[in-house]
Amino acid sequence: MSSSLLSGLNPEQYAAVTLPAVPALILAGAGSGKTRVLTTRIAWLLSTGQASQHGILAVTFTNKAAKEMLTRIAAQLPVNARSLWVGTFHGLCNRLLRMHWRDAGLPETFQILDSADQLSAIKRLLKALNIDDEKYPPRELANFINGNKEEGRRPHEVECWDDYTRQLKALYEEYERQCRREGVVDFAELLLRSYELLRDNAALRGHYQARFRYMLVDEFQDTNRLQYKWLKLLAGGGAAVFAVGDDDQSIYAFRGANVGNMRDFETDFKVDTLIRLEQNYRSQGNILDAANALIAHNRGRLGKNLWTDQAAGEPIRVFEAASDFEEAQFIVDEVRQLHREGQNLSDMALLYRSNAQSRVLEHALFQSGLPYRVYGGLRFFERQEIKHALAYLRLMANPEDDNALLRVINFPARGIGNRTLEILGETARGGGSSIWLAACSGGAGRSSAAVGKFVQLIEGMRAQMAGLNLTELVQLAIEQSGLIEHYRNDKEGQERLENLEQLVSAAARFIQDNEDSVTAFLTQASLEAGEHEAAPGQDALQLMTVHAAKGLEFHAVFLTGVEEGLFPHDNSLSSNEAVEEERRLAYVAITRARQRLYISLAQSRMLHGQTRFSIASRFLSEIPEDLLKWLNRGYAPAAMPTRKIEKTAPEHGLRVGANVEHPKFGHGVVVDYDGTGKSANVQVNFGAVGVKWLALDYARLTLI
Ligand code: ATP
Ligand code: MG
Repeated sequence: MSSSLLSGLNPEQYAAVTLPAVPALILAGAGSGKTRVLTTRIAWLLSTGQASQHGILAVTFTNKAAKEMLTRIAAQLPVNARSLWVGTFHGLCNRLLRMHWRDAGLPETFQILDSADQLSAIKRLLKALNIDDEKYPPRELANFINGNKEEGRRPHEVECWDDYTRQLKALYEEYERQCRREGVVDFAELLLRSYELLRDNAALRGHYQARFRYMLVDEFQDTNRLQYKWLKLLAGGGAAVFAVGDDDQSIYAFRGANVGNMRDFETDFKVDTLIRLEQNYRSQGNILDAANALIAHNRGRLGKNLWTDQAAGEPIRVFEAASDFEEAQFIVDEVRQLHREGQNLSDMALLYRSNAQSRVLEHALFQSGLPYRVYGGLRFFERQEIKHALAYLRLMANPEDDNALLRVINFPARGIGNRTLEILGETARGGGSSIWLAACSGGAGRSSAAVGKFVQLIEGMRAQMAGLNLTELVQLAIEQSGLIEHYRNDKEGQERLENLEQLVSAAARFIQDNEDSVTAFLTQASLEAGEHEAAPGQDALQLMTVHAAKGLEFHAVFLTGVEEGLFPHDNSLSSNEAVEEERRLAYVAITRARQRLYISLAQSRMLHGQTRFSIASRFLSEIPEDLLKWLNRGYAPAAMPTRKIEKTAPEHGLRVGANVEHPKFGHGVVVDYDGTGKSANVQVNFGAVGVKWLALDYARLTLI
């Protein structure tokens, strides 16, 4: 069996797959077979009897990738998917904490707060403490808390140099108290808690260190500090850690991921086996050339020379639309054409830098009737009605879950207003209890009748739970809560009703594939946030952010919105490191394509209710012209000079790409500038009015 497993690998891949039990780093470019090597190594270790299913732990970056990995292994060998520890960091940590909840100091049915839940928990906390949320914006506090947790720091370990940080630290502490009281755990906590569990519990640590003799990590360049420490701890008994990564695809620095981990890994684990894979098997020549040329603009790379023996293939198609609507229409037409030629929709992807861009694309797809699936953004499990239904389910499992309670205590409306909630909140805090207990003890003051009814409703639902399976429980939750009736009476509610029905189907399917457990189902819902929202098995076009496309590949890729300010993103323009991260992101996007790559941009698009003009991204000008085929070159270069894109803004602040308003010519976008001080000139494209050079001192331009 093992020989067929290994056939087709090139010599470096072969060497990597069949390495003995030593720590190793596989440093390799996009599409060079890193994931394939990692999966094949697992199959090889199992089939040659060197490792048992029990002894392997593999980490990937997304749930989708983890599933894919299990499928690939199962295709090669009979495996019991449950005994193999394959998953994301969050998934594996969750698994550990579920098994050892008592040792970890958690309630047995602890619930997971996704990022939106966390934000509302923080808002609630600030309100309770009477703290001005303009001075301490909830999102900033969330970043502070998550950032510290990802560095492994509890509140008492946070160093403070000023009053503001001292206050943030105090709030972090309060937030932890609230989470503990409510028995909830946020994403970063999953990791930190399981790290501490292993660190502080020698018996458990010893057990798992002895168990996982082989640890394999995909997308190693994007592990953050705490994930790295977690791995190091678990591998402390001498496990053979097999890490694969690509520094050019590090795209989570903003979230604390650290390419430095790759260098540390070599020293900390005394790695002397470093294998480079340089042959790309995914993309045709032109696509690979474009990617290589682009990434060459970054400094400080570890350096790789990626090549392919595939033909050059088709040129990269560039389409420059007048508006985002036209861009979307162009894509719909091309997708239709490719589909007619026999290409599966699911083998085509639409990629965008920011989630907000998907709306226009989705709208065009919706109108065209092309089936599509969105990864990221508002996924199935993030939709309002689904979150409401899950909140009822959570309350049935644990009525002291304050987040869930607050979400639905007055949804559907039952006359419980904010004032009542404040009173309940105060009673709860006064007695150090959950809001549920406050509600049960009549702590709602004069509005206690409405609250009493809610308590009865939940009690009633809980009383019926015995003997029901998960599907029946979901059914019970959506019917008796009044959600179904509510949406039935809502003119716009049809789609929501369908989603609720889908939730029942999701539960039924969950029981088939997993266990019949509400907690497990809720956990999966939080972790996956709906990665299988569209009808399973249906051929559908794939829409996702570039971040979500990591590790995937498609026959055709449409990279959209390739404009200054969008990609690279506005937020990154002031720092060279940030632009380099954007460039790596563009590199990831381009290297997803096997045969056909489209790059599109729009001269104007609606953003926040305003029309905004843009010019082509600097990244487009970094790709050699001879690899590109402009589909509508006619009006491209004159209106959209791409030559002068400065790294930092000029002193007057009107950088290329900036949107300006002129009293007479109206709205325009800066395309060039020269001179300084009194003799500074800027060139502005005013769309219909044309492109004009203006003396800045006289022009009365305002930046918008
Ligand atoms: P990424 O950096 O994007 O994650 P990767 O290095 O993990 O890419 P894979 O996804 O493992 O690359 O492989 C890319 C493609 O090349 C896959 O379709 C894979 O099946 C194919 N491939 C890898 N190695 C070989 C090989 N030796 N022969 C033929 N095809 C291969
Ligand atoms: Mg991969």
